[in-house]
Amino acid sequence: MSTIAENLKIVGERIEKAAIRSGRSLEEIQLVAVTKTVEPARIREAIDAGATAFGENWIQEAKPKIEEIGRGVEWHFIGHLQSNKVKFIFDLFDLIHSVDSLSLAQEIGKRAKARGMTADLLIQVNVSRELTKEGLDLEEVFPTIEAMAALPSLRIKGLMTIAPLSYNSEDSRPYFRSLRELALKIKSEKIDGVSMDELSMGMSGDFEVAIEEGATLVRVGSAIFGERPHK
Ligand SMILES: *Cc1c(COP(=O)(O)O)cnc(C)c1O
Repeated sequence: MSTIAENLKIVGERIEKAAIRSGRSLEEIQLVAVTKTVEPARIREAIDAGATAFGENWIQEAKPKIEEIGRGVEWHFIGHLQSNKVKFIFDLFDLIHSVDSLSLAQEIGKRAKARGMTADLLIQVNVSRELTKEGLDLEEVFPTIEAMAALPSLRIKGLMTIAPLSYNSEDSRPYFRSLRELALKIKSEKIDGVSMDELSMGMSGDFEVAIEEGATLVRVGSAIFGERPHK
């Protein structure tokens, strides 16, 4: 078995154990294999080993890779999206995890409408309030989503966050819990076009804690593909 296949098997088993431990069904948890800096040959290895969804951070890097591999698997955009790159999104990605402003949502909605389609997106929340992180502040999320819900051609399916870097996965738990509580609160408002059923949280260092706290999408890179080269 290749290293990638072996790693995928281990990550899959860890996901399953975390799901069982927290009384959740495995069907509600999707693994997004994060492939930034990973070349197509190694992505193909992951596909051969059963991976079905991939996450990319940069349009420029992702475009040739996705064009080479094709849309037979799911592609998720998880990086910071600039408005001038929105035009590329629809030919490449199935879900955007990282919408962090009303103006970006406006651009996505406008372009989706022009193409006669609806865009699926998650709202990125900076739960930890780190200055270096993208995402809306907690208290901005509800009013921003209300404003986004009035825009055409968007489906707001949930929230995404990145916990602060830490060597102890337990440190991430309060951030993940806050994100889930916020999603539940927004869901209870029953806004048209806003479903809040998806929670994208958890990476290689903390995906099990994220699953225990309700993650439906975990974004795992280095635990599958190994450490990335430092840029
Ligand atoms: C790189 C990245 C990941 C994956 O990180 P690992 O620690 O390698 O699992 C997940 N989410 C986002 C937003 C990323 O940029």
